[in-house]
Amino acid sequence: MKSHAKVVVIGGGVVGCSVLFHLARHGWTDVVLLERDELTSGSTWHAAGGMHTINGDPNVAKLQKYTINLYKEIEELSGQATGVHLTGGVLLAATEARLDWLRGVVAKGRYLGIELAEISPKEAAELMPLLDPKQFVGAVRNKEDGHLDPSGVTHAYAKAARKLGAEVERFTKVEDIVRRPDGMWRVITNKGDVVAEHVVNAGGLWAREVGRMVGLELPVLAMEHMYLITEDMPEVAAWNAKTGTEIIHAVDFDGELYLRQERGGMLMGTYEKANKPWSEFQTPWNFGHELLAPDIDRIAPSLEVGFRHFPAFQNTGIKQIINGPFTFAPDGNPLVGPVRGLPGFWVACGVMAGFSQGGGVGLALSNWMIEGDPGADIWAMDVARYGDWATMAYTNAKVRENYSRRFSIRFPNEELPAGRPLKTTPVYDLLSARGAQWGVAYGLEMPLWYAPEGVKDEFSWRRSSDFTQVAKEVATVRDGVGLSEISSFAKYEVTGEGAAAWLDRMLACKLPKPGRMTLAPMLKEDGRLIGDFTLANLGSEGWFLAGSGIAEQYHMRWFEKHLPDDGSVRIDALGQKLTGVSIAGPRARDVLAKATRSDVSNAAVPFMAIGRMDIGMAPCLVGRVSYTGDLGYEVWVAPEYQRAAYQTLMAAGEEFGIGLFGSRALNALRLEKNYGSWGREYRPIYGPLEAGLDRFVAYGKDADFVGKAAALAERKQGGKLRLRAFIVDADDADVIGDEPIWFGGAVRGWVTSGGYAHHSKKSVAVGYVPKEIADESDGFEIELLGKRHAARMQPAALFDANFERMRA
Ligand SMILES: Cc1cc2nc3c(=O)[nH]c(=O)nc-3n(C[C@H](O)[C@H](O)[C@H](O)COP(=O)(O)OP(=O)(O)OC[C@H]3O[C@@H](n4cnc5c(N)ncnc54)[C@H](O)[C@@H]3O)c2cc1C
Repeated sequence: MKSHAKVVVIGGGVVGCSVLFHLARHGWTDVVLLERDELTSGSTWHAAGGMHTINGDPNVAKLQKYTINLYKEIEELSGQATGVHLTGGVLLAATEARLDWLRGVVAKGRYLGIELAEISPKEAAELMPLLDPKQFVGAVRNKEDGHLDPSGVTHAYAKAARKLGAEVERFTKVEDIVRRPDGMWRVITNKGDVVAEHVVNAGGLWAREVGRMVGLELPVLAMEHMYLITEDMPEVAAWNAKTGTEIIHAVDFDGELYLRQERGGMLMGTYEKANKPWSEFQTPWNFGHELLAPDIDRIAPSLEVGFRHFPAFQNTGIKQIINGPFTFAPDGNPLVGPVRGLPGFWVACGVMAGFSQGGGVGLALSNWMIEGDPGADIWAMDVARYGDWATMAYTNAKVRENYSRRFSIRFPNEELPAGRPLKTTPVYDLLSARGAQWGVAYGLEMPLWYAPEGVKDEFSWRRSSDFTQVAKEVATVRDGVGLSEISSFAKYEVTGEGAAAWLDRMLACKLPKPGRMTLAPMLKEDGRLIGDFTLANLGSEGWFLAGSGIAEQYHMRWFEKHLPDDGSVRIDALGQKLTGVSIAGPRARDVLAKATRSDVSNAAVPFMAIGRMDIGMAPCLVGRVSYTGDLGYEVWVAPEYQRAAYQTLMAAGEEFGIGLFGSRALNALRLEKNYGSWGREYRPIYGPLEAGLDRFVAYGKDADFVGKAAALAERKQGGKLRLRAFIVDADDADVIGDEPIWFGGAVRGWVTSGGYAHHSKKSVAVGYVPKEIADESDGFEIELLGKRHAARMQPAALFDANFERMRA
């Protein structure tokens, strides 16, 4: 075994082998994979080997498509058969709500290049003869479903990697990992040490234990999973003989089942409600090629549905039940990327669908390690979407919930209850008492809307029980004044003698003067966005940044990577050490004036001013800006004062009819101002010109800010896309995001977000279209729940286009 390598990959499951292959294919051949046993000795060997392209996140779906297309290449390169059977499949809906969901999947497929088509239950039965069409209301045909040989695929990756120069060391157990003073990693194994610049944790079932070697508690948990294999079935033999083809895959969402042919019989797997975690605290190192004891009682309710939906199963025997563990992250998507605070330590774990996702994970990670960027929008898989709040107990609750809902519908207005409430702010109970309906962002409870007694969310794809109430909250803001809780923003403090120069290099905007704020896009070297913030200059106190709450860890990882070594700049994420409330609406100034002794006149506190003032007895930092697009203020306050500040503002607002508003009303308000947000409109695949943030980029400033050359090139060449707002002729449903935008009879773009703008009484969709059609006003259509609705471009903000209200 070599003693030095550029990269050590820990784990010879499908994921580690894919990472190794991709690194070698990308040109890093001084790479070695260490496997404690034979390859596939974790969850890989007993997988059912199913693969499919669909995923709730379109970017992950793209990587799944990449994975499936890769098998031919690795088979040819390695000479190792992968056993791929691209049978195609049907996705089955037994309820109308499920069919609505499937229509959304078909629509997404249109701009992802995934060929999906809605078919009737009868047509589904013609393709998949075992199903009873009477049990279903509709189906979708997917040509890119199939299955493969898990061991063949893993060995094909490994062999192809070896051919390219990579090494694989089996029976080599990593026992510890130590960071050396020179920044290199010492990987200690039962066969000696390997010193490496980079380490990849692809430890699968042991990813947690490998993480712990470097002081990391990864949010992953293994769950037991069962599938059964039947005796040979005459129906299968008859179909094979009649058509010369295998029985295609089926996913029966309402039965929580997946099925495929296995030799002369069928394989049926289920994600049962009464699920069971495996090795909750510590995975035993002596677990190898073993199976767990099957527990038929646990899967009996799903099988009962299965036998009804697929009656031929009633007449056949079960040959074998496989029960094996595999790992999940709390939301079921992989954990990939560099780990904040551990330079050169990477993870590729929590991959619950290794045969659909392993290739994409390897591709993204190798790009990231070699090029410094994953090369795709992989936010949904980024390890940085979790912070310290994703503890072991939280992970346990969420993984169990996710497993039990693997095939369940999640409605756009549905909040999942497990692991909550976890983080709350001091006003939590006060807002609850006023009917707050809670959502969660980065582990923190945030009010979505305020419900009258006895009313709550009715889950639906269409406008629902909150609609009239959110309309009232919007009216409260636009006609008077509203208060909302804004603690879920990420807040950062930047201090030190080098702070200004560093911010000037990190952010693409012009730095504001003391007491002023500005919008601050942040770019990567390739000129695309990696963040958007409000930057405030607090004079001698330093600098204050507010940004997307869900991206706190993501942005801190980026900031810390770029900090100078000399200690001249310090950045702190304030988390819930700083909380906030915001007031907005034409009477907001009146409320603030009553709540403070400071001068809050327009002359003293103009638009985008920021400064310290007491609200009642509470010391606060108050900035004159509001995401509602109205006259408004953001009030930042230490948590011990948040209740006092809130109560003072509510009392002061009483005579002006102050009311509470939640994030759904805020969405309705920002839509009519064409304001985008991080994670929706602004993502790392768009340039500032494409995203309409170029007006905040100081292209001409002296500082050589990160991404400057590429941003100048984008401005010169014009980029490819444009972010645009549309008014949709919707009926009883509004867009939620990821719907296709049609133009000239073809899908040309996609929706990033939208909803009903209650004040303007318009259904709004925001999304990207190619720049060639970005100045057309008519002829657009947006597909919603299987129907195309006419849409008109809305170039100017629907509300206060001339900024009169905001700046008054
Ligand atoms: C019953 C069942 C059915 C499934 N069906 C499907 C399916 O149809 N389709 C699908 O896509 N997925 C399926 N899966 C999931 C799939 O198996 C996983 O997604 C996949 O195996 C994850 O691979 P991995 O490489 O991340 O982890 P693992 O396969 O667990 O590999 C990790 C490897 O790392 C090694 N390792 C760990 N620690 C160390 C160390 N310290 N030193 C050296 N080596 C170490 C282990 O020995 C192991 O070989 C199924 C899983 C089960 C259990």
